[in-house]
Amino acid sequence: MKISKLLIVLFIANIQILIAQIPHLTGEVKVSILNGTIDGDLEYSNLPKLKNYSIWLNTGLNLRYFRDGEDKFNYGNIKYYDEEKSSEAFQYYFPDKDNKDRFLPEKFKINYVGKFPVISDTLKASNRGDWKGNIAFNGKSIRASEQTAWYPILYDIENDVELNKVTYDIKINCIDCESIYLNGSSPIKGKTANFKSDKPISMMLFAGIFDFTKNNHTYFINTELNSEQEKVLGSWTDKIVNFYENKFKIPYENSVTYLYTTPISKKNAWMFVTYPTIAIIGQEKYNVKSYFAPNTNKLKDNSNIEYFAHELGHYYFGTVIVPNSELRWVFLEGLTEYLALQTVKEVLGEESYHKKIDTYLKGTIDYIPKSMATIKNSEIDETYRYYYVPLLVTALEKEIGKERVWNWLRTVLKSEKSVKTDYEFFKTSLVKSGIKEIEFKNFEEKYILSEKAKENVNKIVK
Ligand SMILES: [Zn+2]
Repeated sequence: MKISKLLIVLFIANIQILIAQIPHLTGEVKVSILNGTIDGDLEYSNLPKLKNYSIWLNTGLNLRYFRDGEDKFNYGNIKYYDEEKSSEAFQYYFPDKDNKDRFLPEKFKINYVGKFPVISDTLKASNRGDWKGNIAFNGKSIRASEQTAWYPILYDIENDVELNKVTYDIKINCIDCESIYLNGSSPIKGKTANFKSDKPISMMLFAGIFDFTKNNHTYFINTELNSEQEKVLGSWTDKIVNFYENKFKIPYENSVTYLYTTPISKKNAWMFVTYPTIAIIGQEKYNVKSYFAPNTNKLKDNSNIEYFAHELGHYYFGTVIVPNSELRWVFLEGLTEYLALQTVKEVLGEESYHKKIDTYLKGTIDYIPKSMATIKNSEIDETYRYYYVPLLVTALEKEIGKERVWNWLRTVLKSEKSVKTDYEFFKTSLVKSGIKEIEFKNFEEKYILSEKAKENVNKIVK
């Protein structure tokens, strides 16, 4: 009895430590979608004790002040830019008295303002140049994901962790909007609203002139689907999520929200996820309605399913575990793409699966991949992330068996939050999941270290 009570006490203490580390954001953000302005007046509290940190704020946002929690004095701050860490944000810190170390109070106030181009006329828009980290005003709405650092984001330098998930109690005031959506809350109709979340969440803001619906348990924001089409998309989502939940035994937790909007460039079209929102960005001809055969409630073809599978997979590799360090892109994008490949096999069948493998093989035909043992984060390009890694993991699957790969993925997802996802972790997590040292050595020798690594991969995956 005593032992179990002690365990419970320890368990609760642990939870409290975890809760204590999640920053809490309050205050007000004013937006105008016609003027392209953001005006933030916020207070950050419940900050963890970090010695080596920076505070990120979008490069288009100008600081009025950092101020103490009691509103008595301003904090002096040092501002710098480190593109390796975030190309979207300036980084700030408070120097201590001797200007030697960084000092982070338990709470602080921050006030900032910024004005961004409103690009409503695509004729004058650039071909490219929109991405998840862009604060986008397209004339009808603002789209700002956590990657933009439209709200201040604390970065733990020591552990290479962005603390972009916060609990919040925030008023959004948008004078020229009809609807407002803040990730983690339900969308609302109106120009102003108070949003609250007790669960830590990455804040993505979408506000403007748009409609939304709720079908079953899923929100559809600005997608303009009819209710039958929403059901079709919803049932594919359920199939994919069920597959992942079954494999990982980790519940998906929140219902997915689908959000569609146009980019501020002519040609960018992509999807991204800020869990639990899946954002679909593209010009009108690529809107969500375009996935359906004209005037029907049937998907044109199933090729978009693989993209949904990829985005939905990011709940696991992106939210449950947030990869970092040298193999960040391998764990974040490569493994998620491998999940999408498995989903395609499960829900669409063998033929679609082999087609996808062929796409990877074609995409890497002239590609010379660096060895995963020595590759650097900045060298992991799109071909490596989205084509080579799924092939490499498929080679692993052929060598050790599929179930043991799932077992490894489960082990990775259960790792400590602060783990560094580097090559050492790749190895130790495999061994921890039950792969024998000798099995790892053989795999490493043949598919990672060998001069013929890529040839060996290609041979076995076919
Ligand atoms: Zn992805």
